[in-house]
Amino acid sequence: MLRFAPSPTGDMHIGNLRVAIFNYIVSKQLNEGLIIRIEDTDKERNIEGKDKEILEILNLFSIEYKSVFYQSENLKYHQKMALQLMTQKKAFACFCSDSKLEELKEESIKKGIAFRYDGFCENLSDETVLNTNAPFTVRLKKPDHNIKFTDLLKGDFEYAPFDVDSFIILRQDKTPTYNYACSVDDMLMDISMVIRGEDHVSNTPKQIHIRESLGYTKEIKYVHLPIILNAITGKKMSKTIGNVVVVDDIVKRYGADAFRYYFLRHIPSHDDGDFTWDRFDAAYHGELANELGNAVQRIASMINRYQQGVIGAYSKPGHDIAAYTEAVDNQQFDRALEWVWELVKSVNVF
Ligand code: GLU
Repeated sequence: MLRFAPSPTGDMHIGNLRVAIFNYIVSKQLNEGLIIRIEDTDKERNIEGKDKEILEILNLFSIEYKSVFYQSENLKYHQKMALQLMTQKKAFACFCSDSKLEELKEESIKKGIAFRYDGFCENLSDETVLNTNAPFTVRLKKPDHNIKFTDLLKGDFEYAPFDVDSFIILRQDKTPTYNYACSVDDMLMDISMVIRGEDHVSNTPKQIHIRESLGYTKEIKYVHLPIILNAITGKKMSKTIGNVVVVDDIVKRYGADAFRYYFLRHIPSHDDGDFTWDRFDAAYHGELANELGNAVQRIASMINRYQQGVIGAYSKPGHDIAAYTEAVDNQQFDRALEWVWELVKSVNVF
């Protein structure tokens, strides 16, 4: 089973859409299902209606899925499993206040070292815990061995216990943190392969450690896709900045099919029905990964320039954006995409 796990905290951008599309392609290729998991446990950051918007965009791109889950509905499992970890002394109650932790973080910053929990509450006796009348979080003890995993695109990773750290799994209000809820749900939903952005690489050892602590032995494969940068700012695309990367806007202007085909076509040799893991894998190694990332980046940049009214200065005579939109309107997606690709190659300003 594969999953696409968006948080309803902002607009869906091209990077999220690409992750969704690859999950869909690989689910088809492996002949497994795809589920959508709305990761809605961070109540303060959730934006009402974003879940529906995300699902509409997935429908627009013909991404078929088996079912939709809301992570918050699994709260009782998250809590029960945390209780089990506490009973087994793999997790502990942590009474350290936010202000104390903030101080420790600031000290680490001053010393120029990465912040790690100092272990203060790790060995409190059960009696002390019972007699302490203060709010507490639940922390999972760091592992006693290195956590290793192989990313199918990036290769081998190994993290020392110090880097995994004793981290929070339940907040003071006893709702789960991202890593914990995500890891437990991947287990409960029998996920076989996680495909997501490479900004999540450092979460992976934590998620593996959670499942190992719970005694789950089935291996989950990991694929971390290169991040698409925003060509304008040079930074990671954020759900909250600039409308150029927001799928909704692109779809309104160019149509969903054009982008769907665009994403698919830029995997060399891909054609529907004859798509193998090897090809996907090869397409994402080395330069091709950059090529794909750059192309999408350039398109985003190009659209932005067009919106600002400056694209005409860079496009070839006879190749204006109207020709592209006209082709899309006439359902000539291949022509439209070739045209876009030509333009991207000819626009030499990025
Ligand atoms: N909710 C996370 C996100 O939107 C999901 C990450 C994952 O796929 O594990 O980034």
